[in-house]
Amino acid sequence: MVFSAALVLPMTAPPVLDGAIAVRGRRIVHVGERAWVVEALRESGHEFTEHRWDGVLMPGLINAHTHLQYTGMASVGQGRYTGFEDWALAFNPVYERGQDWRAAAAAGARMALEAGTTAVADVVTDLEAMYALADAGLHGITYWEVMDWTNAAWRERGRAQVEAALDALPTPPGTGLSPHAPYSLEIVPLLDIPDIVRERGSRIHIHLGESAIEREFSHTVAEPWQRKGLGSLSELRSAGYGTSATDYVDHLGVLGPDCHIAHGVYLSAKDRAILRARGTSVALCPRSNEVIGLDEPPVAAYLTEGSPISVGTDSLSSAPSLDLMGDVAALYAMARRQGYDRPDLAERLLAAATHGGSRAMGLHMGPDRTGYLAVGARADLAFLDVPVGDLATSIDDLARAGDGHAVATVVAGRLRHATASFTSQTGASLT
Ligand SMILES: [Zn+2]
Repeated sequence: MVFSAALVLPMTAPPVLDGAIAVRGRRIVHVGERAWVVEALRESGHEFTEHRWDGVLMPGLINAHTHLQYTGMASVGQGRYTGFEDWALAFNPVYERGQDWRAAAAAGARMALEAGTTAVADVVTDLEAMYALADAGLHGITYWEVMDWTNAAWRERGRAQVEAALDALPTPPGTGLSPHAPYSLEIVPLLDIPDIVRERGSRIHIHLGESAIEREFSHTVAEPWQRKGLGSLSELRSAGYGTSATDYVDHLGVLGPDCHIAHGVYLSAKDRAILRARGTSVALCPRSNEVIGLDEPPVAAYLTEGSPISVGTDSLSSAPSLDLMGDVAALYAMARRQGYDRPDLAERLLAAATHGGSRAMGLHMGPDRTGYLAVGARADLAFLDVPVGDLATSIDDLARAGDGHAVATVVAGRLRHATASFTSQTGASLT
């Protein structure tokens, strides 16, 4: 099968006007100019069907941070708040009333797919919601969320409960643990969780720098906090330590190339350097940050410093949609406001929303690699109805205003979503 488009964005190779990819089974077998791909197939005697689209073809979007089970909580996400604590006051009563979390998560997976998403970092708080990615056939990682454990309760029963939950998660997709945040768990679970996932070759994902209390402030205590036997970040604060949450979790062994963080708003230059040194990507969720009333994430600094970044929508309990291109557009505007003036902005943000997400979850290598269009990679594709003219303008338009333009999604070679305009133009049908 050949998918050709007016503009093809492979991400790990230069953009191609009038490009195409050839797909056999679940994988990509050719990428390049349409004329070359078609000729290569003919020369090798392969019969093929071509689906030709006059817009953009890019890798499937990779949503590097969301909670699909909160898809039914849009009433909370439509409010405006003055900070994380204020938002939590609105969130908690609605959450505590409970819902059919499995159905809500399934609805979220459907929305993600319809927005061109093919892989998701999904944080699950209630076990009923753990089937969303598996049922939808989406790639990515289901993370079991771990929060509110004291050191004593964790030792007594927490560790065993969490290991059992992790082992119960359906696969594929991949699995992992998401210690909620540095302030919502005491120190022993934060020390144990990295070992639990690493023993299994699994992954970690943590909210970091989403609350202003996590930022570094000056302190005058000379003795390192590690020698004081303190039991939590709040005990550090009470003892007068201004250690940043990033520095704190780094000393507990949470960070690394098998970990990615969500938000990264209240991180200093020193904190960002720690993330780079550990190979830890940050999933930026700018529209959620705005709803909650946080400061802007320092996206211009992340870009200038060369930090690994990815993009997440967060959930409908704090964001207007599960369309990752809405967050790409927000990041574009934010980066320009923050003074990032280089011409590569659009390409870098589109890379963050695809290849950056696969790197954040370790899905960029190995037999099931995804997040870019290259021979041998999984055929995970998004088609958008953004008009294509000259190269630079088209890519800029896509990054600045691609929200709401997804028209078709292919997951592992199967067309899983398509609008009527896409099917009538290309002749492709759902498989
Ligand atoms: Zn979150």
